[in-house]
Amino acid sequence: MLEIKDLHGGFEGTEIIKGVDLSIKKGEVHAIMGPNGSGKSTLSKILAGHPEYEVTGGSVTYEGKNLLEMEPETRALEGIFMGFQYPVEIPGVNNSEFLRMAYNARLLYKDPEAEEIDPLDFDEILDQKMKLVEMDHKYKERFLNDGFSGGEKKKNEILQMAILEPKLAILDETDSGLDIDALKAVSQGINRLISGENAVILITHYQRLLEYIQPHFVHVMSAGKIVKSGEKDLALQLEAQGYDWLTAPAN
Ligand code: ADP
Ligand code: MG
Repeated sequence: MLEIKDLHGGFEGTEIIKGVDLSIKKGEVHAIMGPNGSGKSTLSKILAGHPEYEVTGGSVTYEGKNLLEMEPETRALEGIFMGFQYPVEIPGVNNSEFLRMAYNARLLYKDPEAEEIDPLDFDEILDQKMKLVEMDHKYKERFLNDGFSGGEKKKNEILQMAILEPKLAILDETDSGLDIDALKAVSQGINRLISGENAVILITHYQRLLEYIQPHFVHVMSAGKIVKSGEKDLALQLEAQGYDWLTAPAN
């Protein structure tokens, strides 16, 4: 589904990603761990097509197509979902209307002949998905993330994911800033959305998220490279030993 080969890139002429290789298949959950500043968020922003980041080498193929040539919107419409470390607040935009617009955009992209969903029908889907991620209905009519707590923003992201049914979800530090109850709720929501039909990249600094969501593969990033890959037990080893034994010297 996703093939990253020798990817290099960064921000304003500074190379942050220094040769990443990663191969992800349908149905797989990959965790990317690593110390702060190792380039995890930069990698996710490059994959999302964030305009401030540039690619200076390598390739990314998504479902057989050159991802790096796609506009950010196209990437989303093609089924890539990004959960950002710091979700933006958009006062004035109604949460459920935003979700309906996004849902319709995806629907019309898949089939230009399709009709937009009726608001009442969408409301039923929304109710169902809110139940799935255990989110209170009052968040429907709130402005998008406006004044939401950290946990509510992350839950709202999982709701977006539930509505959009992405083929590939990239979740950056979904666990950061969450207390244990919020972490459990968000993890449970994600677990309900993981299926054999999609793939998930979980970016996390801490092992604790992986107590709730079981990855098939764990990768450690350091100084812009993946320095170690393994299975779930690698995360436990990192928990016990930290990152120092793996981290390459920065250069
Ligand atoms: P991680 O997510 O692993 O903590 P980041 O990808 O956020 O790491 O950051 C990697 C490095 O790139 C850091 O040294 C960070 O300061 C730098 N960096 C990333 N984005 C920017 C930016 N927009 N402006 C300046 N420096 C950046
Ligand atoms: Mg980060």
